[in-house]
Amino acid sequence: MQPGFEPHDSQAELLRLRDVYQRQRDAHAGDPFPDAAARRKRLGLLRHLLLQHGDEIATAISADFGHRSSHETRSLEIFPSLAGVDHALAHLGRWMRAQRRGVSIWFKPASNTVVPQPLGVVGVIVPWNYPLFLAVGPLTAALAAGNRAVVKISEYTPHFGETFRRLLAQYFGEDEIAVINGGVDVAQAFAGVAWDHLLFTGSTAVGKQVMRAAADNLTPVTLELGGKSPTLVGPDYAIATAAERILHGKCLNAGQTCVAPDYVFLPRGSEQAFVDAARAAVQSWYPDLGRNPDYSAVINSRHLQRLQGYLRDAEEKGARIVPLAEADAASGKLAPTLVLDVTEDMKLMQDEIFGPILPVLAYDRLDQAIDYVNARPRPLALYYFDYDRQRIQQVLANTISGGVGLNETVMHVGQDDLPFGGVGASGMGHYHGREGFETFSKMKPVFAQSRINGLWLMRPPYGKRMATLLKFMLR
Ligand code: NAD
Repeated sequence: MQPGFEPHDSQAELLRLRDVYQRQRDAHAGDPFPDAAARRKRLGLLRHLLLQHGDEIATAISADFGHRSSHETRSLEIFPSLAGVDHALAHLGRWMRAQRRGVSIWFKPASNTVVPQPLGVVGVIVPWNYPLFLAVGPLTAALAAGNRAVVKISEYTPHFGETFRRLLAQYFGEDEIAVINGGVDVAQAFAGVAWDHLLFTGSTAVGKQVMRAAADNLTPVTLELGGKSPTLVGPDYAIATAAERILHGKCLNAGQTCVAPDYVFLPRGSEQAFVDAARAAVQSWYPDLGRNPDYSAVINSRHLQRLQGYLRDAEEKGARIVPLAEADAASGKLAPTLVLDVTEDMKLMQDEIFGPILPVLAYDRLDQAIDYVNARPRPLALYYFDYDRQRIQQVLANTISGGVGLNETVMHVGQDDLPFGGVGASGMGHYHGREGFETFSKMKPVFAQSRINGLWLMRPPYGKRMATLLKFMLR
């Protein structure tokens, strides 16, 4: 920890949690349906915060990581956060409008609408890997939908947590947005609060615990989880292009990205070409990688040891380890590393890697790679490199994943008009864009009867009239 940053006192954070929750509840009761102008004002303040305090945010996150490239913080956290706010500002009016729905002939001339309504007070639990974007993304959706929100920042990013709390306090009252810091004990208590909605981003294992805790209050959850995101390269795709695009997605934030390519399947025989192209790309991007400020560190020594352990375990079991550059472990960095000749008993083929290690597998026929994916938990992202429409369709139709990137990795997350969320073991529910607004709204159906209507025809006493009607109704 840097001077001035003390570990958080759990007891104080728990008291604070209770206090801000009650204050937000009371504030919501006093203003349950903020109009578009009020929501725009809050989004505007968030926008201002992002634009004005980029340096402080980047410095805090870098302190938490040991080193995080400030360009990565700006391009992968501040930029998509800002773009998400701008998208919400541009579309809020349309999202808030009551939607007219159809009425069947039997109920005419009544009318049907779906009215989006703020849920109230929502909770957001944030992991450490993109602490700003994974807090501001859900906050944007929650504020656009007219809610108040409390955000729990990860115990691994205390500098960011403290900075974010201080910055938010300059623009918002804690009855609008509040930040809770602290350890796992605080996070557990947070998951047990009776939120009107809880969005959790983190690992699949913790996601299960969060859902259990939320069940006690019947709190609806959106779970943004992780897993192993497969990358398949089509039979005649240019290997050098694939290697560049895959390694780029893998090297961002040193592979500590929920949608980073976890492993790659190549057409058999192209492995060496892939290794050569991957090495050339990494060396051209990060000369002197250990000291290169553009390459981020692994979050802490525990995770560094976990990743080194994967390499040791794989090597002991017969894999070929191919580092693509050199990095001194003392720098807290791990060089991008390919692993060839992998087998299923290796730990790195079982756990989500979440670091700059990329196992390389080969297929003889594309369906073998598809079968491999389908024999495993449903991934958060799936990447396929090909321009052949039929094979693209084959992959899309025969696999299911949270999202898909064709001929590119990671960038689908930054598309404001696409929903983001996992499926199966990689999560449930969506946010970003309209889907985020709807996640944090009660999409309330309203049936409005008209002054004059024919429903009296169906009232008892049932007799000939009803029998005739039923003859038409049950055709
Ligand atoms: P994690 O699950 O260990 O922790 C996530 C958050 O949950 C932290 O804030 C932590 O304090 C809190 N937490 C820990 N134990 C808890 C409990 N019992 N109850 C409630 N909250 C608890 O995950 P992490 O190590 O911070 O992040 C890495 C994981 O997150 C990876 O699996 C990655 O794929 C996933 N992830 C997913 C997305 C996505 O958008 N789907 C984005 C980023 C990361």
